[in-house]
Amino acid sequence: MKIHEYQAKELFANYGVPVPKGKPVFSVDEAVEAAKELGDFPVVVKAQIHAGGRGKGGGVKLAQNIEEVKTIAGEILGMQLVTHQTGPEGQKVQKLLVEQGLDIAKELYFSIIVDRATAKIVIMCSEAGGMDIEEVAASTPEKIIKVPVDPLLGVQGYHCRQAAYRLNLPPAAIKPFIKMVQGLYKMFMDKDCSLLEINPLVLTGDDGIIALDAKINFDDNALYRHKDIQEYRDLDEEEPLEVEASKFNLNYIKMEGNVGNMVNGAGLAMATMDIIKQAGAEPANFLDVGGGANAEQVENGFRIILSDKNVKGILINIFGGILRCDVLASGVVEAAKKVGLNVPVVVRMEGTNVDEGRRILAESGLNLTGAKDLKDAAAKVAQIVQ
Ligand code: GDP
Ligand code: MN
Repeated sequence: MKIHEYQAKELFANYGVPVPKGKPVFSVDEAVEAAKELGDFPVVVKAQIHAGGRGKGGGVKLAQNIEEVKTIAGEILGMQLVTHQTGPEGQKVQKLLVEQGLDIAKELYFSIIVDRATAKIVIMCSEAGGMDIEEVAASTPEKIIKVPVDPLLGVQGYHCRQAAYRLNLPPAAIKPFIKMVQGLYKMFMDKDCSLLEINPLVLTGDDGIIALDAKINFDDNALYRHKDIQEYRDLDEEEPLEVEASKFNLNYIKMEGNVGNMVNGAGLAMATMDIIKQAGAEPANFLDVGGGANAEQVENGFRIILSDKNVKGILINIFGGILRCDVLASGVVEAAKKVGLNVPVVVRMEGTNVDEGRRILAESGLNLTGAKDLKDAAAKVAQIVQ
């Protein structure tokens, strides 16, 4: 799960990590009020969306007086903000963060990630922070400092010092930096984060260190034990079809292609997506209806796939174990009748009660194509969408 910058900064503050003074607002009037409360200029007005690259997209602006706060807040609120992370359609801005402007001497990059390959927590940082960090990582990877931390030992003083010295921090900033890293590491573990990023981490003119931006992702599988984090969820920022799917306990991820697919089991779903690509087509989604799915879930899955306008054909790939093939077939027929099946469907099905399942599909009168195996199914659906 992702959260907003203002929420991440709230968490930072709870862990003793310095953040600029500021507050979230939902209207131009509130923005003006918040700026007055800050009492000093410049003030920064920042779009709050679950995507980075806001600065380059015109979603972060400095205001030198109240009039400018009003104008800028008016421009950014409600705009369709397009960044390299939103896709071309952009994301509608519904909240702003109004913050004290800082005297920036240097922009650093700081993050904590889980490195699955080494089974370590990695602290990553760079002197070359700011809006072009992706470019830095691609063209001068030696400028990215990586300090691996064994999660069983936890973060130690030497980890922090190593990062601080390699960042060439001024002596006065070293102690606060170390305290900050310890606070962030603790938060990362306490809250089951999967990613934490501060870009830029700012050195101020008087050698202070402040998190000017804040991004945190959480491990969804651990959310059940963090009621406080669950409250940060903002459904406006999530893909509507994924929100809909989560209501029915379906594991659905929307993708860019045009072959919708419905599969029972995550591994089988991954394999299905691979074979769709091998057949020369692109999957429109990942959808795992679960090993023990019932007819209702199948129906909802089908409805969700069909409400993606990109979908030109559907591949249903089911191995009937706990979910019997006849139950699946009835679910498909019910759903197709209810939602109005308007695209061709290829079905590959094996396992328990497969003959009964095939009979139900064959007698349904729907636009369904059978397949003899997975390869055949992928080839057929690829041909349909071409
Ligand atoms: P992002 O583009 O979505 O990552 O948003 P950021 O919060 O990182 O802001 C983008 C850029 O705006 C930063 O890299 C800074 O250069 C600039 N910026 C943000 N806040 C301030 C501020 O208080 N003072 C100044 N001078 N620049 C700021
Ligand atoms: Mn940033």
